[in-house]
Amino acid sequence: MHLSSYEDLRLRLFSKEITCEEVVRFYLERIDRHKDDNIYITVFHEQALERARSLDRKLRDGESPGKLFGLPMAIKDNISMKGGRLTCASKILENYESVYDATAVIRLEEQDALFLGKTNMDEFAMGSSNENSAYGNVPNPFDKNRVPGGSSGGSAAAVANGLAMVALGSDTGGSVRQPAGFCDIVGLKPTYGRISRYGLVAFASSFDQIGVLARNCDEAALVLEVMAGKDGHDATSSYHAVNDYASEMATVSVEGLKIGVPKEYFPDSLNSDVASIVKGKLHELRDKGAELVDIHLPDSEYAIAAYYILVTAEASSNLARFDGARYGYRSEHSEDLSAMYINSRSEGFGREVKRRIMLGTYVLSAGYYDTYYKKAQQVRRVFQDRYREALEKVDVIAGPTSPFPPFGIGDKTENPLEMYLADVFTVPASIVGMPAVSVPLGFDSINLPVGMHLICNFFEEGKLLGIAKYMQRSL
Ligand code: GLN
Repeated sequence: MHLSSYEDLRLRLFSKEITCEEVVRFYLERIDRHKDDNIYITVFHEQALERARSLDRKLRDGESPGKLFGLPMAIKDNISMKGGRLTCASKILENYESVYDATAVIRLEEQDALFLGKTNMDEFAMGSSNENSAYGNVPNPFDKNRVPGGSSGGSAAAVANGLAMVALGSDTGGSVRQPAGFCDIVGLKPTYGRISRYGLVAFASSFDQIGVLARNCDEAALVLEVMAGKDGHDATSSYHAVNDYASEMATVSVEGLKIGVPKEYFPDSLNSDVASIVKGKLHELRDKGAELVDIHLPDSEYAIAAYYILVTAEASSNLARFDGARYGYRSEHSEDLSAMYINSRSEGFGREVKRRIMLGTYVLSAGYYDTYYKKAQQVRRVFQDRYREALEKVDVIAGPTSPFPPFGIGDKTENPLEMYLADVFTVPASIVGMPAVSVPLGFDSINLPVGMHLICNFFEEGKLLGIAKYMQRSL
């Protein structure tokens, strides 16, 4: 079965050329064949088939199909689906079952999407390579010895390998965009507050957003539109009207488009293939009538420093609930209550998660709060002001998604600071809360994918995806 796009799939389902059941069988077979790649943590073998049959009945009975009828999707394993396992790729939640559905999941289901399973990730979404998972590494789809990016590495690899048509990820500092760049697909992080976080396991609540990984911008827009909008369960979700993204995308034209090119996004240390591919694409757009505008933004390195102070602070608080008493794993050999807490957390969490809890506790402690946490909040504000100012002059800010192509498995695991620098270009949009996307541009000299990163103003997802569509290489 060859399915070139969701539109193609939809037409073939409606013309009765294929059924949802056949589609699900096709995907499940592929998933089973890729079993050794650890892309899925849980596969919904029976439920997906059952659901497909009920969708097929719906169509036969002449009921009107939803916007995502029969769309085969994968869900990152930090998003709740009632009655299903929710591991966050952590030992501490190994046998935990969700007791409710995330709002995003409910909205997708209402529009007849099909869920195939839950995908692998860095533990609690902390990481850039999927190597911090209690369920093993995921190989990059283009080179088995390299990482797929992270933390939504499983979701990105699922879409790139054709084990799902679209996947959900979560993005706190780049976890949807960076793996999308490493896997040659589209990865969208919407404006903060655009999609409800209800049912997304919290890492750093003032940064976390559910995002979409897809093969093209149209499909990302469609899925975004279904999930977006106010939700009474999440006070930070926005009342901002949900736009018709497809029509917004259609109004974008390259002619006269002002593309901001910050010199801070093209440092000397940038991988030369990445630099030349990204610049090549920008020049191509200039030749088609776009205007490239040199702009200045605060140094991205400050964003990384502020980011790792703020997110670890929030994480240390959010992860306090995993104490062995209320959720998941409890250590078996403890003499008293406090030993039970300590042992459960020591045995249940992986190294990176523990490192961040300690860092976060430290930056929030009396005497250090002002030096670190407060300062980082101030830096966050400076970034917000500067990005807002920049976007008064240009339509979009462009640069590479990652400073280097996918790196080797194990290359950065011993040096957390080097790993943190993998997000140097994606973190600023998370600091300011603006929507951003990674689009595939093509391959470098050793055939590894390179992505372009674009940022637009708050709630301009339609425009952002419209611009991204012009940049994407044809798959
Ligand atoms: N790699 C970044 C981190 O480790 C981003 C993670 C994310 O976006 N969830 O924090």
